[in-house]
Amino acid sequence: MNLILISMGVLGVVALLAAILLYVVSLYFKVEEDPRIDLVAAVLPGANCGGCGFAGCRNFAEACVKAGGIDGLACPVGGDPTMEQVKLILTPADAQAETPAAQEGEKKGFDPAIAEKIKALATPRAAFPNLIAMAQKS
Ligand code: SF4
Repeated sequence: MNLILISMGVLGVVALLAAILLYVVSLYFKVEEDPRIDLVAAVLPGANCGGCGFAGCRNFAEACVKAGGIDGLACPVGGDPTMEQVKLILTPADAQAETPAAQEGEKKGFDPAIAEKIKALATPRAAFPNLIAMAQKS
């Protein structure tokens, strides 16, 4: 009986140490992703057809964010309305001072949840301080 309890204790300690190690390693190797990628991906059709020349919608969203605009990029499935939404998401908050992105999004019929996220993007020093700093650098 004692042997079983000792074994369980040793395994518990090993599991706890492994969990702590994994947590620390995950913090060290954590990859920061631009939050605009999720927003762009959310407004794309999600067909993953490859018609844009990328492997799927997520890859296309990453390319749009990396390019910082939509020049030379197009989603033939979503067409111009989709690309207008992508352009709006990628427009720096400073450039949207006269026409807040959320209002634009609502006018264009965005999903309310996406419009809220865009509003957060357009609100200086709001939920995405890293994004604001990045936009100010560009
Ligand atoms: S063409 Fe549009 S729907 Fe098709 S993979 Fe590209 S972004 Fe997605």
